[in-house]
Amino acid sequence: MRKATVAIVGRPNVGKSTIFNRLVGERVSIVEDVPGVTRDRIYAEVEWLSTSFNLIDTGGIEISDEPMLQKIKNQAEIAIDEADVIIFIVNGRDGITAQDEEVAKILYKSNKPTVLAVNKVDNVEMRELLYEFYALGFGEPFPISGTHGLGLGDLLDEVVHHFPEIEEIEKDEDTIYFSLIGRPNVGKSSLVNAILNEDRVIVSDMEGTTRDAIDTFIHKDDQDFVIIDTAGIRKKGKVYESTEKYSVLRALRAIERSDVVLVVLDADTGIREQDKTIAGYAHDAGKGIVIVVNKWDTVETSETAMKEFELTVREQFPFLDYAPIIFLSAKTKKRLQRLTPIVKLVSESHSKRVPTNVLNDIIMDAMAMNPTPTVKGNRLKVLYVTQVGVKPPTFVLFVNDPEIVHFSFKRFIENRIREAFGFTGTPIHIIARRRA
Ligand code: GDP
Ligand code: GDP
Repeated sequence: MRKATVAIVGRPNVGKSTIFNRLVGERVSIVEDVPGVTRDRIYAEVEWLSTSFNLIDTGGIEISDEPMLQKIKNQAEIAIDEADVIIFIVNGRDGITAQDEEVAKILYKSNKPTVLAVNKVDNVEMRELLYEFYALGFGEPFPISGTHGLGLGDLLDEVVHHFPEIEEIEKDEDTIYFSLIGRPNVGKSSLVNAILNEDRVIVSDMEGTTRDAIDTFIHKDDQDFVIIDTAGIRKKGKVYESTEKYSVLRALRAIERSDVVLVVLDADTGIREQDKTIAGYAHDAGKGIVIVVNKWDTVETSETAMKEFELTVREQFPFLDYAPIIFLSAKTKKRLQRLTPIVKLVSESHSKRVPTNVLNDIIMDAMAMNPTPTVKGNRLKVLYVTQVGVKPPTFVLFVNDPEIVHFSFKRFIENRIREAFGFTGTPIHIIARRRA
């Protein structure tokens, strides 16, 4: 099911990022665990009671070379475009400022459900600060304190109350959903167009186009695919459309609904930090991944060029060592024909189940050949392994003591599983549990 999205808006220094971090809690540091990825803390998943939703801190979307007021307005517009509900934050100690009024005007016109939060109300005595904020026209203001964590429960109750009924788009299990993500200008739209114009691809419009993306149904080699195209519906001309942080947001929406994600790189400009951030999100989401090096026509052909680029990709994206790499050109269509077969292969890995007896034979053999680690005199014993899920393939190791299962041991098990069964292009999750 699509999750609701909530955006935080407000002028600088009202406490947006403080509140974002509070609401997100520990999740942010988990996300940053992936080696080689630096993260912008602008987007995260939040759990509140039985609901989970996506939270955006629009304050983190820097649009350079813009006067402050224009920046604030752009951020409010992004919130309106992206969010189901908006949290509008003001500073209780400053009263209503001219910038608050500007933001209010934009939000008011949009008719998006907006909850007004008055921050820096650090104690009960300060509650009388609230009253003047009724004048902004968003109904009852909610007093909160980001630094003290006060009032956030009531605020979230109100936010959740405004969530729309989110229509479920029927997903056909046999259809492979994929998307292309990447920085602006790497060639995502060109690639989508090239795929749609390919030989032997039958394209048909389908129901299910959403606010975030255009879905196109294609049929090729006896397989149904849906391309989720977020790049194609960019509203050309808006200043923030070309910013990298905004492209991350767009990518996140596409990733959520995909089985397989094509991480598009630009052979012409090379690899940038933002490529890693975007790819890291796809990895975290547990999706099948193909690395697509586009604009290969711009590279001098030599015996070693491809090998060298591949080496660089492997160095720069150590967390995607399972993802196949394809070098192609949307312009010349070189190797384009190979793309959908790879997507299909990765999708099959992503949903593959392996037989428990074979799995156990392989792991037990591997353990017999390699003594298990001992931690504080306690030797790790693996008693049983079983696959508990797909998309991504997830395995549970039943062990004598889960505390002594370290990352390197999980990696060892993962490698044995990959050697035996393939799993090209999909992350594998391994969970250790105590044998009851
Ligand atoms: P942003 O620019 O809107 O993201 O604001 P920040 O989250 O960076 O906060 C700006 C300043 O206000 C920082 O110095 C915070 O420590 C402070 N601040 C944030 N929330 C509160 C609060 O609830 N009470 C008080 N007293 N200070 C706060
Ligand atoms: P997007 O922002 O990722 O959707 O990128 P676009 O598809 O809009 O492409 C950005 C620019 O790169 C355009 O000028 C394209 O013509 C160009 N481009 C896209 N693919 C290729 C390619 O394979 N080779 C070359 N030389 N240029 C390309």
